[in-house]
Amino acid sequence: MRAVYNNSCLSARNRLTYHDDRYTRLTPATYEAWAQLERESGQQLVYKPGILQLALKGETDVIMEEYATAMDRHHIPYDRLSSEQLRARYPQFTPPPNMVALYQKDGGLVDAALGNSTHVQLARGNGAVVLDLCPVLKISRTADGKMEVVTTKATFTCQRVIVTAGAWINRVLGSIGVQLPITVTQEQVTYFATPHIRDFTKDKFPVWIYHAKTNDFYGLPIYSNSGAKIGIDASGPVVTTDTRTFTPDPERVNACRQLLRDILPNVSGALACPYLRLSTLSHLTPPVIVALGVTVSDVFDCPYGLAPTHT
Ligand SMILES: Cc1cc2nc3c(=O)[nH]c(=O)nc-3n(C[C@H](O)[C@H](O)[C@H](O)COP(=O)(O)OP(=O)(O)OC[C@H]3O[C@@H](n4cnc5c(N)ncnc54)[C@H](O)[C@@H]3O)c2cc1C
Repeated sequence: MRAVYNNSCLSARNRLTYHDDRYTRLTPATYEAWAQLERESGQQLVYKPGILQLALKGETDVIMEEYATAMDRHHIPYDRLSSEQLRARYPQFTPPPNMVALYQKDGGLVDAALGNSTHVQLARGNGAVVLDLCPVLKISRTADGKMEVVTTKATFTCQRVIVTAGAWINRVLGSIGVQLPITVTQEQVTYFATPHIRDFTKDKFPVWIYHAKTNDFYGLPIYSNSGAKIGIDASGPVVTTDTRTFTPDPERVNACRQLLRDILPNVSGALACPYLRLSTLSHLTPPVIVALGVTVSDVFDCPYGLAPTHT
C-alpha cells in the first residue's frame, strides 16, 4: 500500500565504502541485489563513474582515515590522490593545494526513480498487488494473533506487516503504541546548471563527497536532467511531517554555490532547482518489520527485498 507523500529522488549515490564498518559490510550485497534487478528487468540502473572522498589536509583527517581503514579491512581497492593528481585525473576540479582525495572506482549512482518503478513492476509480475494512493490509517492485532491493516480503501488481514513509511513511520506505528526514536530533518538538494554539460556527465565525472569541518557536501554527475546535483548531508532543520515546508533555504544554496565556485567553478552557473526531501536519522524491529532507510540509503532498499523475513 502506498501513500502520496513524495520523497523520491532521481539519482542516489552508490558505493562500496562508508566510514562505518556496519554499512561497509552490507555494501557488496547492495551491488549484487541491484545486479539481480538489472538482470531480471533488462534495464540499466547502476552506473559506476567512481567516487571521490575529498578533504583538506589537517581538517577532517580522522574521517578520511575511517573511510580508508574500512576499505582496507574489506579489501576494497582505492587510490590516494594529492591535489595535483586529482586535478590531473579530473580537470573539472580546481582543488586547493592542501586538498587530498580517496578514489574508489566502483562507486557511482543508482537511478533511484527508475529503480523504484522497476521494483514495483517486477513485484506485480511476481503476483504482488500494489495499491497506489492507499495510505495506511492504522495497524492492529486481531484476537487470533493476525495483523490487521486499515487503509483508506479497505481493511486487510495478514500474518506479517512490513512497514516502510520513512519519516511518516510513527504515524503508522503509533496505532500499535510504538514510537521509534527517529529524528526527521528537512533536507534539500540543488541542481546547478552548467554550459559545460559534457564535462559533468557520468562518463567523465565521478560522484564526490567533500568532508568539510562541519558537514559533508556531496555531488553527483548530471543524470536525468541538465544540472549537476549537490547537497549538504544531514544539515537541515529538525521538522515533523506536519511542519516540514517546501521552501528552499537560501543559506544552504549559497553554501553549495560557494563550494562549487571554489572547487568546481564550471558548475556554479544558474540555479536549476532546489528540491526538498525528508530524512530520518535512526532505527528498530518485529512481528511488524520496519524497513527504514535512515539517512544513508536509497541503495540499501534493493537488498531489503532479499532479506529473510524471520522475526
Ligand atoms: C536529500 C537527500 C539525499 C539523499 N541522497 C542519498 C544518496 O545519494 N544515496 C542513498 O543511497 N541515499 C540517499 N538518501 C537517503 C535515501 O533517500 C533514504 O534512505 C531512502 O529514501 C529511505 O527510504 P525509505 O523507503 O525508508 O523512506 P522513503 O523513501 O521516505 O519512503 C517512505 C514512503 O512511505 C510512504 N508512506 C508514508 N506514510 C504512509 C502510509 N500511512 N501509508 C502508506 N504509505 C506511506 C511515503 O509516501 C513514501 O513513499 C538521501 C536522502 C535525502 C533526504
